Amino acid sequence: MAILEGKRVSSEIKLQIIEEINILKKTTGKVPGLSVVIVGENEASKAYVKSKDRMASELGIKSNVIEFDENISSDKLIQKIIELNENDEVNGILIQLPLPKKFNTWEILDNINPDKDVDCLLPINLGMIFLNRTTIFPCTPAGILKILDFYNINVSGMNAVVVGRSFIVGKPIATMLTNKNATVTICHSKTKNLADHLRRANLLISAIGRPGFISEDMVKEGSILIDIGINYINKKDDVNEYCVESQIKKFDRKGYAITGDIHKKAYKKASYYTPVPGGVGPMTVTMLMYNTLQLFKKKQNLLK
Ligand code: NAP
Repeated sequence: MAILEGKRVSSEIKLQIIEEINILKKTTGKVPGLSVVIVGENEASKAYVKSKDRMASELGIKSNVIEFDENISSDKLIQKIIELNENDEVNGILIQLPLPKKFNTWEILDNINPDKDVDCLLPINLGMIFLNRTTIFPCTPAGILKILDFYNINVSGMNAVVVGRSFIVGKPIATMLTNKNATVTICHSKTKNLADHLRRANLLISAIGRPGFISEDMVKEGSILIDIGINYINKKDDVNEYCVESQIKKFDRKGYAITGDIHKKAYKKASYYTPVPGGVGPMTVTMLMYNTLQLFKKKQNLLK
């Protein structure tokens, strides 16, 4: 079994982004711009936004975080999005999700100019994936394909099983794998005999959000396991059951740890697997930066 080190792939892509931005700065006199809008006091969202802002600055992307109180009206929020649409220095607009419950999420998101939809979640951009006509993909699925490319894993002809059908992860990755000639099955909470599907998978991708849910006996010998799940663990017994050694140590220091959907005991049956943490997670923010750069290049007519 070999580890698919998303952290390593992410570092390589970040270096490429820095290099490309330096060149583009010299040739165009401009740098890519990313605006992240966050509404309310969700601590996890705030931490994600902070890390996105930090990474953008590290890579030479002009980043702008716009924070609003939960009391802001939908109209004011939409007004801000329209301003960002009209701002030439902004190439990518990200509305941090989830929005507080009082908002109709699509009523807000639909105002983003599709050319600045850096997370690729507007219907037109998701539709372009369906038609296999785009170069911009949602960040997490895009990160998965980059990991597979990095390790020279060709999915053509593979039986791929995706567990989870969210529009942000499960459905787009299933479509993207189909476009790459994998034979794809999508499973979800109403799937009957889930284990039977999983045992046929050469490539198993899990985006459920339940710690250690996919057990050793559900996994085919020699398969490739991609774990998107990020699950916070705060009970000692659960940490010992689900988490890898480094996270057990983290729990002792910080009182919490993280783990994926695929049980650690299943790793030994895999030919390759993504660890949690250090697998798909680091790729997601990196691909946000990558997408910002792609949108910038598209605006400058530099995208091949
Ligand atoms: P989501 O919208 O809650 O979707 C979860 C999916 O899992 C649903 O399709 C659900 O089925 C399915 N599911 C739930 N219980 C199941 C079961 N017992 N058997 C089979 N399928 C089941 O979540 P999401 O936004 O896609 O995220 C999924 C996980 O990925 C979360 O842990 C999230 O934190 C993580 N995530 C990680 C990254 C990253 O960067 N690594 C990025 C995004 C998300 P139904 O449709 O039938 O309800």
